[in-house]
Amino acid sequence: MPAAAPPSIPPGATLGILGGGQLGAMFAAAARRMGYRVEAISDVTDCPAARHSDRLHVGSYDDGEFLARVARSLDVVTFEFENVPAAAGRALAAVVPVRPHPDVLFTTQDRAREKAFLVRHGFACAPHRVVRSRDDLHAAVRDLGLPAVLKTAAFGYDGKGQAKLAGPGDVDAAWDVLGAGPDGPRELVLEGWIDFACEISVVAARGLDGRTATFEPSRNAHAHHILDVSSVPAGLPEPVLGAAVQTTEEILAALGVVGVACVEFFVTRDGRVLVNEIAPRTHNSGHLTIEACDTSQFEQQVRAVCGLPLGSPRLLAPAAMANVLGDCWQPAGSGVLREPDWAAALAVPGVRLHLYGKTEPRPGRKMGHLTALADTADEAIERVRLARRLASRA
Ligand code: AMP
Repeated sequence: MPAAAPPSIPPGATLGILGGGQLGAMFAAAARRMGYRVEAISDVTDCPAARHSDRLHVGSYDDGEFLARVARSLDVVTFEFENVPAAAGRALAAVVPVRPHPDVLFTTQDRAREKAFLVRHGFACAPHRVVRSRDDLHAAVRDLGLPAVLKTAAFGYDGKGQAKLAGPGDVDAAWDVLGAGPDGPRELVLEGWIDFACEISVVAARGLDGRTATFEPSRNAHAHHILDVSSVPAGLPEPVLGAAVQTTEEILAALGVVGVACVEFFVTRDGRVLVNEIAPRTHNSGHLTIEACDTSQFEQQVRAVCGLPLGSPRLLAPAAMANVLGDCWQPAGSGVLREPDWAAALAVPGVRLHLYGKTEPRPGRKMGHLTALADTADEAIERVRLARRLASRA
């Protein structure tokens, strides 16, 4: 007889979120609306999740005792940030259900392990080689050719820990910058350059019973390696979108995800989809689901990790999301930064503003985002871009 599914965790229970960033804040807001208590776990006091949680536990992600103590007051833990030591997930999982399981975190937080998982399961991705020395790098360049992208295996995000190798002169310099870690050579992954037509991502939820609910793929434009604008519908042929959705659902099943995950893809000029990255959590490209879908990615995360039925991921209207980075705060002289003109942004029809409450607007730092619904994705993109331009008075 199959084992009975664990009982669902009803509203009133206490949910833990590992990580204190905006993804945790939006998760907490969704959970509290549904009647849950939320306790966030972060290594800093002043974090976005603190403003939306019932309680913030501040401590080191390396401190297993601290995590185990916190876990005793929680009914389930999920995460919003994957750059935590795998041991942190295991310390929590010894006390309370952690969803997705820390093994999923372990696989996806390291590019070399993630690529090995993709290859083992036959999911198409960029040609690549794992690199552990300068010699490895030269051999990998001979195999894959140039241009190529060198990436640190662990702890990279938003293009950090990456270098493009355009020509032979870049190879040694890239090794010097990325390969030489404080404790000896770092593990790196060299990827062949993909001359992609566009980038898309698919956010999906998978429940305790293995059922999935998948949002429509979004088309993603990056600027300086950071997501700039996401839009839905992605405006690609149905077979391309269908392949991305199917691959995402198969990846979630192969990993055994309970929760929400996002798979980012390169779409090649001949219409193939290659997996770029897997994030075992809600994703920046899914923020527009708050306004544009029957159920947001954050509510889906609550439902999935609590063992509740998943909501409908139906798209209500074409939508676009533009990130608001610290760069929108323009210098106003004497080292002072001018607050963006939010009223001007909100005067654009259909535009909604989300600010994460971060106090220091550093360049490249995600401070908030703007979402717009419209009759077409292009019109929604125009609206969020216009709103952002007006806000930053650029
Ligand atoms: P990642 O952190 O791996 O998502 O990379 C950040 C961005 O760099 C991607 O969204 C792409 O725009 C670009 N990029 C990364 N890897 C490659 C590649 N192999 N070929 C071409 N562009 C890439």
